[in-house]
Amino acid sequence: MTQRLILASNNAGKLKEFGEILAPVGFTLHAQGEFDVPEADEPFATFVENALEKARHASRLTGLPALADDSGVCVNALGGAPGVWSARFAGEPKSDARNNEKLIADLAGHADKSAYYYCVLVFVRHADDPQPVIADGRWNGEIVAEARGTGGFGYDPHFWIPSLGKCTAELSPAEKNALSHRGQALRALVEKLK
Ligand code: IMP
Repeated sequence: MTQRLILASNNAGKLKEFGEILAPVGFTLHAQGEFDVPEADEPFATFVENALEKARHASRLTGLPALADDSGVCVNALGGAPGVWSARFAGEPKSDARNNEKLIADLAGHADKSAYYYCVLVFVRHADDPQPVIADGRWNGEIVAEARGTGGFGYDPHFWIPSLGKCTAELSPAEKNALSHRGQALRALVEKLK
């Protein structure tokens, strides 16, 4: 028998990607929208607090275990910005194009272009779970001014992986999942859930 698990997101790509990896360990993943759960606020300055808030919110409203992620790109020369504020770096309404423009502009005078993607996943058995299961992943790269590739989302056209000689928008979904911060976090979480 499988255990129902709520994903605190309505992103169809994440539902598919996470669902495929969690099925073999006994979970059937459902988007929170299927249960009419509205999006939780993400007010905190740390990824783990935001993910915990989202997981608790989904679990509280459904009465089921829940999984949430929070992620972003952290640029070393910018003191880790945009970090937790990655989705809305250039303000409301959120726009990948404007976020990328701002990132390239902010970084223009800096020689150090190193950056990393970071992802944390939080699993709660119930809304008041005193021992959430937490896993994270980090993917190092560099920010490049010239956009490359059409895959992925967000900062992918400008996130260069030197060892591959490609930006992450040039990778297939399978290639990206095998290496990405999100893929790393998910595989680490599965090991813990086993
Ligand atoms: P969220 O955790 O899915 O809300 O993502 C936060 C933001 O971080 C996204 O809106 C993107 O701007 C950025 N981000 C996180 N992961 C990735 C990635 O894999 N590629 C590109 N941008 C990402």
